[in-house]
Amino acid sequence: MKRVRRMPSKNRSSRRSSGISWRLFGTLTLFVVLVLVVIWVFQIVLLNKFYETSKLEEFTDTDDFIFGLINNEKGMKEAVYTRSGETDTCIRLYKVVDGVATEIADSEVNMGCMLHSIPADALSSLYTRAAKNGGVYSKKIANPSDKNSSINALYVSIEISEKGEEYILMMDSELVPLDATVKTLQKQFGWIMSLLIMGALIIALAISRVICIPLEKMSRSARKLAKGDYNEEFIGGGYREAEELAEALNYASEELAKTDNLQKELVANISHDLRTPLTMIKGYSEVMRDIPGENNPENVQVIIDETERLTELVNDVLDLSKIRSGTRKPEPETFDLTETVRAVLTRYEKLTERDNYVITFSADESVYVNADRTMILQVIYNLVNNALNYTGDDKKVSIDQSVWDNRVRISVIDTGNGIDEADIPYIWDRYYKVDKVHKRAKIGTGLGLSIVKGILESHGATYGVESKVGEGSNFWFELETFRAIDEYETETEENEK
Ligand code: ADP
Repeated sequence: MKRVRRMPSKNRSSRRSSGISWRLFGTLTLFVVLVLVVIWVFQIVLLNKFYETSKLEEFTDTDDFIFGLINNEKGMKEAVYTRSGETDTCIRLYKVVDGVATEIADSEVNMGCMLHSIPADALSSLYTRAAKNGGVYSKKIANPSDKNSSINALYVSIEISEKGEEYILMMDSELVPLDATVKTLQKQFGWIMSLLIMGALIIALAISRVICIPLEKMSRSARKLAKGDYNEEFIGGGYREAEELAEALNYASEELAKTDNLQKELVANISHDLRTPLTMIKGYSEVMRDIPGENNPENVQVIIDETERLTELVNDVLDLSKIRSGTRKPEPETFDLTETVRAVLTRYEKLTERDNYVITFSADESVYVNADRTMILQVIYNLVNNALNYTGDDKKVSIDQSVWDNRVRISVIDTGNGIDEADIPYIWDRYYKVDKVHKRAKIGTGLGLSIVKGILESHGATYGVESKVGEGSNFWFELETFRAIDEYETETEENEK
């Protein structure tokens, strides 16, 4: 049963295009959410951690900077003041002399400097921990003197100079509470999220419009094309992929138009060709039935001729469709091509005698080929028939056989009007006629050359035509020869024995 394809409805296609915008929106929203989650984790969840780590890094940098000058006490003292101002940190520098720590520099940046408010034994306990901890110790601690119970970061470092003098560096900085900042950020996040999602929606709609508009236009054109409107032009517009699609569709549409035209022409011409002999047969039969004395052999011959013509036409159509569909495949056999051409030409003897045609055949030797003999016969018949139909007033047709290497070429040459160069590529198409006026009396079924083409291509043979307007045409084909003739004949003889 034949399956009927339904044309896609408009609704279905528009549903598909809205799908693109939703898909884009979904993807963009997902991307926005992912970015926001990453920012949330870094900016809100880990904000305190980052802040504390950076404070500690600042302490370490100051430690390196001051103790980098350990052999230059004056330089160290100056560094205490500069770094303190730069980093907003309280710094106290001690020198251990005879087991007692004596302060040699002190910078208090703000009133809440914890290093000055904690008792001396707390300071010495910090020193002990640093000493135990490889010379460095840091700690987060609530400032007992601050009513707002702020948190401070303490840092202690011990270093010994080249002279063997021991120095203690103590630093203290208030850790600014970030809760308020985090809350503000959280609020902003809500807004940022809504704005970005709206942005994603707008971008998705804009992009899908750019993508969908040319596609919708093209599907409208495709619907018209499906109804047989081959003039409809596909317009891409916008972006490369759409342009390429439009180009491909325009090409397909042109090709379809050509095929459709050929098809229409074929049907019109075949029906015309079928009707003419049928009218003749009917007319002659009626005359023979109704008019006494008309039932004579001449009239019967007309009916027979017209029936033959009908048969020829029907056979050609059938042959062509079989070759095209691949139902008729070549069945190769080894045969004498030269002899076959000669045999074909003997069938034209009557014609040459009656209508004074001059058919010549020149061949130096007999050549064997391995091919489907019936099909090759058909090729020769078609080419010779055409040559006879189209040859000039001298009624000359010559057939040439030339052999070289392992190839044989058969050329059928006439002295007719020739074929215009622009028409040559098309004469092998079904029902292409250079002379559009349908001169049935002279011209054959219009399928001859496409049958020739089908047969030769199925044999992998080369073929072509050389033609000059006003001088005539040379239709040729080439086949591979089947070994040396002598060799073949010897083999046959041996087999016969
Ligand atoms: P037709 O039955 O019309 O001859 P063919 O398929 O055999 O159909 O040939 C196709 C067309 O090619 C012909 O209509 C004619 O225009 C052109 N043609 C074929 N053979 C010749 C030739 N020997 N000289 C000039 N034109 C030719």
